[in-house]
Amino acid sequence: MPRTVTLVLTPKQAADVSYRTALAARTLGIREDEIAFVRVVKRSIDARQRQPKVNLSLEIYVDREPQPAPVHFDYPDVAHRTEVVVVGSGPAGLFAALRLIELGYRPILLERGREVSARKVDIARINRNGDVDPESNYAFGEGGAGTFSDGKLFTRSKKRGDYNRALQTLVFHGAAPEILYEAHPHIGTDKLPYIIARICRTITDAGGEVLFERKVTDLLLRDGRIRGVQCGDERIEGAAVVLATGHSARDIYELLHRRGVRLEAKPFAMGVRIEHPQALIDRIQYHCDERGEYLPAAAYSLVSQQNGRGVYSFCMCPGGFIVPAMTDAAQSVVNGMSPSGRTSPYANSGLVTEVRLSDFEHLRAQWGELAGLRFQQQLEELARRHGGDRQIAPAQRVADFVAGRASCTLPSTSYIPGITPSRLDEWLPRFIADGLRRGLETFGRRMRGFVTNEAVVVGVESRTSTPVRIPRDPATLMHPDIEGLFPTGEGAGYAGGIISAALDGERVAEAVAAALRTPF
Ligand SMILES: Cc1cc2nc3c(=O)[nH]c(=O)nc-3n(C[C@H](O)[C@H](O)[C@H](O)COP(=O)(O)OP(=O)(O)OC[C@H]3O[C@@H](n4cnc5c(N)ncnc54)[C@H](O)[C@@H]3O)c2cc1C
Repeated sequence: MPRTVTLVLTPKQAADVSYRTALAARTLGIREDEIAFVRVVKRSIDARQRQPKVNLSLEIYVDREPQPAPVHFDYPDVAHRTEVVVVGSGPAGLFAALRLIELGYRPILLERGREVSARKVDIARINRNGDVDPESNYAFGEGGAGTFSDGKLFTRSKKRGDYNRALQTLVFHGAAPEILYEAHPHIGTDKLPYIIARICRTITDAGGEVLFERKVTDLLLRDGRIRGVQCGDERIEGAAVVLATGHSARDIYELLHRRGVRLEAKPFAMGVRIEHPQALIDRIQYHCDERGEYLPAAAYSLVSQQNGRGVYSFCMCPGGFIVPAMTDAAQSVVNGMSPSGRTSPYANSGLVTEVRLSDFEHLRAQWGELAGLRFQQQLEELARRHGGDRQIAPAQRVADFVAGRASCTLPSTSYIPGITPSRLDEWLPRFIADGLRRGLETFGRRMRGFVTNEAVVVGVESRTSTPVRIPRDPATLMHPDIEGLFPTGEGAGYAGGIISAALDGERVAEAVAAALRTPF
């Protein structure tokens, strides 16, 4: 049995492998040369003190003790097995497909966007000249919204076993093993495309299919049962359909609505992206002038209640970039990502407040369960108008936003299309502007220097979660009215992030297998 030792080190000591191995040996009362293998099992940074510390848990294996096996998965050949249609190649769709293979089914994965290398070119065009391809952008294409993201891998999921297995699946497909022990693991946008492409290759190598530029345009519904989907003129049938289309596929919600498939409006959240110089966040969080070479770019996570509504930071990207995440050129939508090294001089996060059903009640008569979707879309179009009907995003300095003042100039930004001064405090819906202002006042008291004119708010962060839920039976995970239809992931309202979407995809694959063992 390996022995576990927990060390509290300075960042420099933690980076020095021989120092920490020698200290572990001393702590355990053994000779250093008796140690055959050291495995890091947990690493976290404690920045509450003046001098930040690194907490490191190590498993120490001595001579002749069996060492942990490398991460490995076996995917059986499913070329001639029962076919299941999976719509969407985001984390939910990909992990559903992998699990289906493990359970002996052949996934046919349909993706409206392009494969990752072509998608990179489309994304460069959005940044360069505002050319948004509605089928291939930051939300649509191989790997879904998770491909060009920060790749943070946190989840509030309580099932640690499943969480570790999901991380191991990513490591098996090329992610750095560090994600298995870091307290706040992330992959980075420079590494994600390769990992996603390898997952797709695993699916095809096992005999499954991955079809790009296959946009589902209709559902093959008969007698309360789904038999497959329609992609333009092409019919694609399967024993079940897993719907993993993400929260940006508005046409899918419209299709379901049109075909009389039950949907439910749900609360969600909207706001802005906030961007600071990374050095300023480092100074606040690490209590020092410069973080030096051993500490990572500092992060934060802020939550408050303002007049009974939650106001919180979301998807914080240290050393990252703000990116244009719209799926249509008529919208201004921002999000954030960062490379694995988190090397940009900027720190950004979503700063959002709850949007309740009552906030878009006025749209219910016309739009029914899609009212929240329209409310979200209207704000994105409004933001575009305030950006001058160009890809440039409307922005305001943070202290000006809080004080209700115009910003005549703006600081530099990571947002490549650029930002233009705008009165977000005036044109954002009142409950959002007030909530964010009060939230910022609270956060400024908790993090001295957070409310500053060195920072900007950029509009709008609208795609935090779906405003529409696709219901499912809690026991079978199937749509309550449509046999064989399994909604999953963020778009269906059962996940919020890469890992929770992946875990939900796996769960749904297991539910599909259970349902197919006892045919509907
Ligand atoms: C810029 C950015 C940064 C992010 N950073 C993080 C992060 O660091 N950590 C984190 O946990 N989360 C992050 N997220 C959120 C995360 O990416 C999503 O929560 C996650 O991808 C949701 O997974 P999903 O599979 O449910 O849906 P998606 O990833 O949205 O995938 C849905 C897929 O379905 C496809 N599709 C849609 N309609 C159709 C159709 N009609 N036919 C065929 N295919 C269709 C889409 O093209 C897409 O590929 C980020 C998101 C963005 C945009």
